[in-house]
Amino acid sequence: MIPIEALIEIKDVKKIYQMGGEKVNALDGVNLTIYKGEIICLLGTSGSGKSTLLNMVAGLDKVSSGEIIIGSNKKINLTQLSEKQVTKFRQKNVGFVFQSYNLISTLNAMENVSLGMIFKGVDKKERDELAKDILTKVGLGERLYHKPSEMSGGQQQRVSIARAFADKPKIVFADEPTGNLDTATSFEIMALMCQMARDYNQTLIIVTHDTETAIYADRIVEMRDGKIISIEDNDAKIPKNHLEEI
Ligand code: ADP
Ligand code: MG
Repeated sequence: MIPIEALIEIKDVKKIYQMGGEKVNALDGVNLTIYKGEIICLLGTSGSGKSTLLNMVAGLDKVSSGEIIIGSNKKINLTQLSEKQVTKFRQKNVGFVFQSYNLISTLNAMENVSLGMIFKGVDKKERDELAKDILTKVGLGERLYHKPSEMSGGQQQRVSIARAFADKPKIVFADEPTGNLDTATSFEIMALMCQMARDYNQTLIIVTHDTETAIYADRIVEMRDGKIISIEDNDAKIPKNHLEEI
């Protein structure tokens, strides 16, 4: 698949945090176009601005200056929306995967996956069907009613992937999704996420500090000190055998 349609345009985005009397330039003029259906990896050491950039594009935090335009046919300027409009945009278009899974400990896998869809207005019957289908797809068909404490880290991250992808959002953001997992499980989780994104032609933006996990992306965007220092095309290096195993 050759990505051609621009979906996210990041234009000269800056983010300055005020820490007491000191200013932190967390993002220092970032320009990047992300295409529809693309898997992008934001790579960089701790403190390079990866999470800040992801949070800006996901509408979780506001830019200090610059613009973020999202959409292919109908474009919206995320930086000009009200808080309420941004929340609506997120609920409709965006899924998240976090390093620490962010599952609700008192709810089982089905309930955790279903919960996210309540806020999106999906009715109960459809939620249950979608949750069951997607949990089966991520390999947890036998764990539908297990609670997080009754599952391994890798299984919990599969639940959170199921939650993120359940109602097929246009964009999925993953911030250090393999940060708490061992190497073998990390590869499984990366392969699974990429496979899901490919199956539904979703755009996937993954933050990592690990060059090993970055190999799954179409493009690797390297950051340092709040700036993009390189963008590398990665077509040749995607370990396709990992994807086919799933
Ligand atoms: P990364 O995800 O690449 O590790 P971050 O985007 O979290 O980096 O942070 C980039 C820089 O911005 C760091 O110097 C960090 O200390 C700073 N920073 C991040 N969030 C805040 C905040 N809420 N307040 C002040 N400084 C912050
Ligand atoms: Mg981070």
